[in-house]
Amino acid sequence: MNIILIGPPGAGKGTQAATLVATRNMVQLSTGDMLRAARTSGTEMGKMVAGVMDRGELVTDEIVIGLIEEQLTTADAAGGFIFDGFPRTLAQADALGDLLAKVGKKLDTVIQMAVDDTALVKRITGRFTCGNCGEGYHEEFKTPAVEGKCDKCGETDTFKKRADDNEDALKTRLMAYYKDTSPLIGYYYAKGQLQQVDGLGSIENVGADIAKALD
Ligand code: AMP
Repeated sequence: MNIILIGPPGAGKGTQAATLVATRNMVQLSTGDMLRAARTSGTEMGKMVAGVMDRGELVTDEIVIGLIEEQLTTADAAGGFIFDGFPRTLAQADALGDLLAKVGKKLDTVIQMAVDDTALVKRITGRFTCGNCGEGYHEEFKTPAVEGKCDKCGETDTFKKRADDNEDALKTRLMAYYKDTSPLIGYYYAKGQLQQVDGLGSIENVGADIAKALD
């Protein structure tokens, strides 16, 4: 299955994508992760998008469509692709349809993760990840078993927060979501491809609802 997880920043798309990767042999394609990797490795593109990302604005359609095209033509996904944080504009949605057709694949379903804005602020400002393996945590909802130590890889004192997980950038990211990305909900609804899950529950409950939607 090839699916899109759609929802505002902090809805839990990355967390749920990680579960699907582990349980269904799917491949997560997160344009946010790809862009952060480009920044870390210091590529020209990475340098170009750094300021835009830190402010919480969207990078150009051309850049993210290029990243997805590269993955679709090279990555091997027996269990299918999870598009996480892509598409974010109508132009990206059209491009994804074209790219999938070009490689002989189709989109099976779009899962909208609905969460209210107050919950989003709390989720985003409390989250952090392991700098070594990328495992995600939250100050309230998912703390490591031993303070300062990653449950997954055992590294200590490598926890970090995203540069754009602050209140100013979050405001911009939410505006971008409502202005540019939320029209995709109508777009996929009209195509008969949209399913909605309540993203406000626990990680396990939301995961169970997504599994139901996929099966
Ligand atoms: P994310 O990790 O999905 O929250 O993305 C982090 C940041 O990367 C966003 O705030 C944008 O600046 C950029 N970004 C990620 N995906 C896209 C996309 N599909 N279109 C435009 N910008 C994106």
